Amino acid sequence: MNTFEALGLEERLMRAIGDLGFTTPTPIQEKAIPVLLSGTKDLIGLAQTGTGKTAAFGLPLLQLLDENQKHPQALIVCPTRELCLQIVKELELFKKYMKSVSIVAVYGGTSIGMQIRDIKRGVQVVVATPGRLIDLIERKAINLGEIEYVVLDEADEMLNMGFQDDIEFILQNTPKKESTWLFSATMPPEIRKVSRKYMKEPVEVTVGKVNTANKNIDHQYYVVSSQHRYEALKRLIDFNPGIYGIIFTRTKVDAQQITEKLTREGYDLDALHGDLTQQQRDTVMGQFRDKTLQLLIATDVAARGIDVKDITHVINYELPDDIEVYTHRSGRTGRAGKTGICMSIVHSREIGKVRQIERIVQSQFHKLEIPSGKDVCRKQFFSFMDKIISTDVSNEEYETYVPMLQEKFADMTKEEILKRVAAMEFDRFLKYYENAEDLNIRERGREFDKFRKDSRTGTGRSERERFSTGVRTEGRKPHRDTAGREFSGGGSYTKLFVNLGTKDGFYKASFLQFILDMSDLRKESLGKIDMRDLNSWVEVDSKSARQMISAIDGKNFKGRKIRMNDANSR
Ligand code: ADP
Ligand code: MG
Repeated sequence: MNTFEALGLEERLMRAIGDLGFTTPTPIQEKAIPVLLSGTKDLIGLAQTGTGKTAAFGLPLLQLLDENQKHPQALIVCPTRELCLQIVKELELFKKYMKSVSIVAVYGGTSIGMQIRDIKRGVQVVVATPGRLIDLIERKAINLGEIEYVVLDEADEMLNMGFQDDIEFILQNTPKKESTWLFSATMPPEIRKVSRKYMKEPVEVTVGKVNTANKNIDHQYYVVSSQHRYEALKRLIDFNPGIYGIIFTRTKVDAQQITEKLTREGYDLDALHGDLTQQQRDTVMGQFRDKTLQLLIATDVAARGIDVKDITHVINYELPDDIEVYTHRSGRTGRAGKTGICMSIVHSREIGKVRQIERIVQSQFHKLEIPSGKDVCRKQFFSFMDKIISTDVSNEEYETYVPMLQEKFADMTKEEILKRVAAMEFDRFLKYYENAEDLNIRERGREFDKFRKDSRTGTGRSERERFSTGVRTEGRKPHRDTAGREFSGGGSYTKLFVNLGTKDGFYKASFLQFILDMSDLRKESLGKIDMRDLNSWVEVDSKSARQMISAIDGKNFKGRKIRMNDANSR
């Protein structure tokens, strides 16, 4: 195992990252840190978001600085204020035991005077967004004359955002620059151009496939008509009670309006977009980070690069105009080895766009159904029951109330009490979803190519039935299959074992789609599916069992080997 020490990091940094709980370097760190420490001048580091690029440049930078020189030696340029603060925060943690190193954050929208004072106090590392930095250069408030290291973080994003000229201006204003380190998730031609112009024979360090999204992310899409977008969003939120997520909209107006509407309806969320003051943005980010807010509605620019731990879902209220942006949105989840889900609400005209994005992220999207009102209620119910069971009642105070409670409810059965408790929580959902309409588009369009290939035409079974499988099905009568068809029971089915389960992020319907996609079999070939945390059992038409096993057994799922075999011959 490669440890940080083996990469050549000094003891004080080792201690600091030990405090942070980093034990093993990420691949980009493993590759970039030794190269940079060995004195390599120019480097291009390419790795997906969430792979630890900040430490990949931050740690060697801190080690290489001359702590005794109190002038700016290193300049880190990044696209947004949030990212700027995030980098500073992380560097502060890394330099915990290097007391004489100081870092300043330079970004727009806040008092320039304060930043100028901070710079004058003598700093070695400047972390800046391009606009404010140029402002400072022009006011001659910052001396970049002695800058030796320039780091361009999220270089692709900066170019996307139109900072090309600014970056060139900055690079031209760092005359003593010895080293340029460029970090990016993708490698568009514009970056090649900048690197050719400003870097000398850069060492290129690449981790994974460039332009690919993280394999820990499950990409899902839901087809609805435009007028149902908002309603669909609500269902998706309601169907995922434990959600901690970011919802992306294309415009500030959308972000604001959806926030207002959802807030009025009792959801726990706020908006993050460019029209807010910096202070408002800080407040929102702070509340989201400490989970006071469950959801954040953001525009692309505002949310770029932010690193919030453990985001479970990213929801695209609409797909971004620029499909490359999808990677940046989805990259907010599935970070640091965790799994995440990126859901997109799309119009049937946008399926082509979904296919294009699939190529960019090099993963297949799963088409799922917007849950029905009933599904949502059932899901909420299950979550509520879990909540009751896991409620902490260890506080002894409760004991003093027990006699009173018992007296008060003496004439009520347990059943009645439970009903009342449930009603308190559920009235809203039940009423709201009582007559909820089906939001899925039920066309026999070309759009559904992926699933059409195994859909029989002219069998009398409607598309509705075929597609009515995209939601969780727990709680349904066990002898019915996911489409609601009577399960034939017995017959000529072979029961297969497979080492995938709900812990892999599947639920019945998505699992069913997964195995059908893999094996190219029809849904009609399947019998009962029994899913557990880690394993599942699938009944397959005996004639098709071999085909399914050979299509699935030994394949990989999220880096793990799938095992599938006849359950009875094990
Ligand atoms: P990127 O810039 O590549 O998108 P970040 O540098 O923001 O990724 O890192 C993502 C998260 O992973 C951060 O929360 C960071 O603290 C964490 N992290 C980075 N390196 C390690 C490591 N070696 N071990 C554990 N966590 C790490
Ligand atoms: Mg980063």
